[in-house]
Amino acid sequence: MAKALLIDVTRCTGCRGCQVACKQWNELPGEKTSVSTSWTNPKELSAYTWTHVDFREVPNRAGHPTWNFVHKRCFHCLEPACVSACPVGALQKTEEGPVTYDAARCMGCRYCMVACPFSIPKFTWDSAQPVIAKCTFCADRLADGQEPACAKTCLTNAIQFGERDELIAEAQGRIQATPGRYVNYIYGKDEAGGTSVMYLAGVPFDRLGFKTDISLEPYPERTWEALSKIPWEVLGVAAVMSGTWWIIQRREKNGANSISKKAKR
Ligand code: SF4
Ligand code: SF4
Repeated sequence: MAKALLIDVTRCTGCRGCQVACKQWNELPGEKTSVSTSWTNPKELSAYTWTHVDFREVPNRAGHPTWNFVHKRCFHCLEPACVSACPVGALQKTEEGPVTYDAARCMGCRYCMVACPFSIPKFTWDSAQPVIAKCTFCADRLADGQEPACAKTCLTNAIQFGERDELIAEAQGRIQATPGRYVNYIYGKDEAGGTSVMYLAGVPFDRLGFKTDISLEPYPERTWEALSKIPWEVLGVAAVMSGTWWIIQRREKNGANSISKKAKR
């Protein structure tokens, strides 16, 4: 059965324990951030920040301002565009739910960055051999019978881990039981053909920075059509394709480039 996460924005207190747990479990380095007028810090996802909590002040139906803390990360689509775009199979959708990637296979073409409708994959620009990086759904923890680190650490149960069907039923139950608390929509249930990370919220999703123009059809069949419209020189594809096997063989010889210390093991 496919595992999933239900993220209830109305339950999140913005403690950022999930951000810290993600960094800690994946042994990702800290990044220099700057003070701003928002509670969002860091401001966005990066190759070394795979989940972050976005702060949005939005009026509710009565016109009163509400504070919303929105845990954001890869959606782990049921039919991921990133997987279908990757020419070397560095990204894979697992039966359990996570969309994982193998940094050692990544050749840095960035097709997945272009293909992802949610703009999730990031690039290790500072590396001598740049690769893609994103949330892995803690696939290694799942394989060990554990839940993802973010869900494990969340004290308010704003991040709930479980079977996808059961989480959808749980979300529908919460909306029915407390209709004044939620907008009547489960984001991710149908977007891009359905995702493994779904959301409940108390204000419209577009006010929380979610893309609301996402097709409800799976993206993979459109992937190559979209990529074909991008000038080859933009992505440097010709050079990349001709050097693909050389790069992979070099990586296998020298050891894979790593994002985290864990990846080096
Ligand atoms: S751990 Fe839970 S309550 Fe804390 S910021 Fe993350 S989602 Fe919100
Ligand atoms: S959100 Fe983007 S990176 Fe994540 S699985 Fe879907 S297509 Fe891939």
